[in-house]
Parts: sequence; structure tokens; C-alpha cells
Amino acid sequence: MNSRDTEHIIAELNTHNNYTQTTDPKDADLIIINTCSVREKPVAKLFSELGQFNKIKKTGAKIGVCGCTASHLGDEIIKRASYVDFVVGARNISKISKAVETKGSVEIDINHDETNYDFSEFRSSLYKANINISLGCDKQCTFCIVPATRGDEISIPAEIILNEARKSAASGMKEIFLLGQNVNNYGKYFSSDTEKYDFTKLLQEISKIDGIERIRFTSPHPLHMDDAFIEEFATNPKICKSIHVPLQSGSTKILKDMKRGYTKEWFLKVCDKIKAKVPNVRISTDIIVAFPGETDQDFRDTLDVVNQVKFDQIFNFKYSPRPNTPAANLEQIDSELGTSRLNELIELHKTHQDYHMDKLVGQIHKVYFEDLKPNGEIMGFSDNGMQVFVDGSEELLGQIVDVKITQNTRTSVKGVVIK
Ligand code: SAH
Repeated sequence: MNSRDTEHIIAELNTHNNYTQTTDPKDADLIIINTCSVREKPVAKLFSELGQFNKIKKTGAKIGVCGCTASHLGDEIIKRASYVDFVVGARNISKISKAVETKGSVEIDINHDETNYDFSEFRSSLYKANINISLGCDKQCTFCIVPATRGDEISIPAEIILNEARKSAASGMKEIFLLGQNVNNYGKYFSSDTEKYDFTKLLQEISKIDGIERIRFTSPHPLHMDDAFIEEFATNPKICKSIHVPLQSGSTKILKDMKRGYTKEWFLKVCDKIKAKVPNVRISTDIIVAFPGETDQDFRDTLDVVNQVKFDQIFNFKYSPRPNTPAANLEQIDSELGTSRLNELIELHKTHQDYHMDKLVGQIHKVYFEDLKPNGEIMGFSDNGMQVFVDGSEELLGQIVDVKITQNTRTSVKGVVIK
């Protein structure tokens, strides 16, 4: 989502303010840091990075802060770093052109409605198009700052999304990546009078577009994985067979305290259903350890789910208290205990990763190549979301070809093109 926001920032500044991009910050007339605030670390990093850029920037160059930390800290950023020229929060990007021209401007209305705004065009990839399908979040997870930085959930009208997808396909992109905090809750809230699609219908309509061969999305919420959605995911050949199912915790008690809306058993059932319908599926997840009140038994429940589902990929986080979220006021778990739980989870997951990845050696997968690495390797992704490297020529870029997997390098695989 942040990457797509950055593309929108660049697009607006190219089109309305005549900026072009430079690779060296010392040459820049304008430096923008686009920020995350999901955990505390990126927030702390912001101020040290700002200090660095302020030291090296050209005389008269402007500095701006965008994204979720901009929403969250607002004018405090300028108070702490007076050389910052403007602050533009998430979902206020349509205001960026004006903000760069207005010293001291702070645009952080978290419910600003950009669902009908016609953003200018800029895409960082020639091969796949990130497309936002909704803004904000309608959940109230007690650990999460996102609703306070990205506001209420509103879906973008389907016609706008379909137009973006058609344009991307016409320019040769074969893959569409749909983005939202709860993509499979799409269509619940619109701010304008528009045709009401749900996520399943949106997927069906996008897959009718000629030239689009792959559809990915993130992140779906486990609560909204109804049978119609799972059926569409399983049977629509254009939908890539990798899915993110964010667990957060395997303990029903902790899930309740987190206000996730599902139980351990319910989560396991969803994963079983997906696996039964999609044999080659790769499932990734997010897990938070050391949420306030997490006992050893609660943590064992998380490990139990991990053992049962055997996720292909886990994004692990140690709980980080966020301002103005309910869980931040609860009694916190000892930090060292949190680290040791995190390490235990990481070690367990490595065994599952090896289990999955070793099985791949010898298999043939369709890979869409999108990047030439400095060492000459060409990188792409299989339909089910595996990162694959091959030796080959640049002509492979933008092509979907059969690759035989030859080696497991744990987080990615190597292979040879067999055409
Ligand atoms: N909409 C997604 C979450 C997006 S935030 C969902 O509901 O599943 C991405 C991930 O960051 C979350 O899934 C969670 O695992 C992690 N995260 C969010 N807040 C956190 C916090 N306070 N501490 C640690 N990790 C957190």
C-alpha cells in the first residue's frame, strides 16, 4: 500500500509540479519520506533519516513527510524537525501538489475521501500494476494503529478499478495486484452512488479483461473468507494461488482480546477449506507474539496453529505498543520473553519452510519474470507466489514461461527455463 501511495505521490508531482525523479538525494530539489507507523521502530527511524537528509540536501531543497506517521504525528513533526516543509498524511495524497508549494502545510484529515480522485499515472514496474481497491479499515483490532492513520473503510468504485486494470493491460502489464486493508470486505461501504460489487464479483470482472493473466491481492481478512470467495479463488485460473491469511495469534483468548472476530478453530477451518480446494496453494500469515496477557499456553496455541497449517511464509512481529490503541494501556509482557518467543517461532517456521521448499525441487512452475538482478540473474514469481531465479537473457522480462526448479535457497528457489 505504501508503495502504491509513493507511486501516486510521484505521479502527482510529475504531472502538476514538473518534478522528475533523481537517484541521488544530494541532487534533489525535493525529498519526501513516505512512512509507516504500524510499529514503533519506523517512527523512530523517521527522525534520524530526516536529520541525515537535512545535512546532505542542496541549499533551498524542500523536505516533506508523507504516510501514516505523518497522519499520526501531524504538526509535531515540524515542531521536532523545523526544517520539514510539509506533512501530508495517508489518503491525503491528492493534496500533495498544493502542499509542496505551501511552507508549513499539514494535511492529515484521516477521513478525507479520495475514492473518486483521478490520480495521475506513474508505475514503477513495467510488468505488474498495483491497484488500490479501498481506503482505510473498518476493524478495531486493539493492537493496531491503522484505523487511526488511514481512517474509515471506503471502497473505490469498481468502474475506476476496472479502468485502471484495462489501462495497465493495454500497456502490456500481465499482472494486477489489488490492495486494501481488508480486500475481501470490498463493496461494503461506498461514498458515492455506484454499482455495488462485492470482492468476488470484482475478481470476476477483472479476470474478463484481455491481457491480464494474473491477479493477486493483499490483504484479505480471515473473517471475510466466505465460501463464494474461496470457490472463486480456487476455480478462477487467473487468480494466483497464493493467499495471505493473517492469524495474529493462535489463542482464542488472545484473539478475543485483540478483537479479531474469529477463534483458533475457525481460523484452522478456513485454512483447511482453502487447502482442500487448492492443492498447490501457498499460505502466508502475520503473527504477533507477546501481545499483553499472552501466557505460555497462549503462545503454545500459536505454535500449534503454525504446526497444523505449516505456513509457507510468516511475517513475525513482536508486539509494539502503539499510541491511542486499547492494548497499549494493558500490562506489557517482558521484552526478553517476547524476543525468545519470536525466536522460537522463527526456528519452528524454518523447518516448515524447508519442508515446503524441498518438495519443489524437480517441479515445473509457470514464472512471470520481472527483474534483472545485478549478478545477471533474472527474477520472477511462480503463480503460487514463490520467488524464482534463473540464469537467462533479458528477453525473459515480461514473459511467463515454464521453469523447472533445481535448488531450494530457503526463501526463494533457483531453476532453469524449459520453455
Ligand atoms: N489489515 C491487516 C493488517 C495490516 S498491518 C489485518 O488486519 O490483518 C500489518 C501487520 O502488522 C499486521 O497484520 C500485524 O501482524 C502487524 N502489526 C500491526 N500492529 C502491530 C503492533 N502494534 N505490534 C506488532 N505488530 C503489529
